[in-house]
Amino acid sequence: MKLLSVIVPCYNEEENVSDFYDELMKNSEFFDDNEIEVEVCYIDDGSSDRTADEVKKLIQQDSRVRLVSFTRNFGKEAAIYAGLEKASGDYLVLMDADMQDPPALLPEMFSLLEEGYDSVATRRVNRKGEPAVRSFFARIFYSTMKRISNAEIVDGARDYRLMTRRMADAVLEMKEYNRFTKGIYGWVGFKTKWLEYQNVERRKGESKWSFWKLFIYSIDGITAFSTMPLAISSFMGVVFCIAAFIFIIIIIIRKLLFGDPTDGWPSMVCIILLVSGVQLFCIGIIGQYLAKTYMEVKKRPIYLVKEEV
Ligand code: UDP
Ligand code: MG
Repeated sequence: MKLLSVIVPCYNEEENVSDFYDELMKNSEFFDDNEIEVEVCYIDDGSSDRTADEVKKLIQQDSRVRLVSFTRNFGKEAAIYAGLEKASGDYLVLMDADMQDPPALLPEMFSLLEEGYDSVATRRVNRKGEPAVRSFFARIFYSTMKRISNAEIVDGARDYRLMTRRMADAVLEMKEYNRFTKGIYGWVGFKTKWLEYQNVERRKGESKWSFWKLFIYSIDGITAFSTMPLAISSFMGVVFCIAAFIFIIIIIIRKLLFGDPTDGWPSMVCIILLVSGVQLFCIGIIGQYLAKTYMEVKKRPIYLVKEEV
């Protein structure tokens, strides 16, 4: 018998907890046929609703269900890390509680894994039902990321992924505090098969990601997997030095040839504003990296557990 751990990060998902369980268990015939034992690990990411109680109800019915509750909301990345750490399966799969990651895909994912892959990942080919602005910025993010980072980050990639123990262990080896799992998977390597499917809309409740939260997350992603912004700021410094040098020479020559007093304070003000703006911008970029480094050196735990059942 092989053990499959299903890891479900939940943040205020009281309506979805038991629906998810039912949906997953529709595959039970497949699990039995292939001699797969299943454990379902719900990671309650500091929910303020009755998510934990709902999971406990399930635990009373089925001893294969487990619950890990955080002391507060640590974010989905922390929940994923905790899940991989706490689950003991030979195979591990990460799934959202809102049924956007269809459990019906599991058999296909399994058969691909048997073919010798270390992980089977999913990407949605469209973003049906998502606000247009959000899709637009997501596209920009992925195309920028592709250009500035050498970790492979796939557009439309979901967190829905089935992997072997050795891949999960590799992911766990990366103990960084600022986690961007989509980049981490690419970084650790291993043979990955991509499955494509049409986007499924969240069944109940609302998305936990506001536009602002996603924006911050994208900055985390960029700083975690690329130092290109730093290179760009150095480059801008060089460009500005060259421009300044050219201007100095022009002004000196003009003065010598025409005795022309340098005119106009408005142009001066514009230059000062432009240059100081660029300077602040570059300091901001350095600041971002410094802040991330600061958080890393503190070595704070990625999550704290309140309760484990
Ligand atoms: N989630 C979490 N912690 C958070 C935010 C989200 O564990 O801080 C979980 C959430 O409960 C869900 C999954 O991550 O199971 C995906 O979240 P959501 O559906 O809100 O994101 P979307 O699908 O809209 O990107
Ligand atoms: Mg969702």
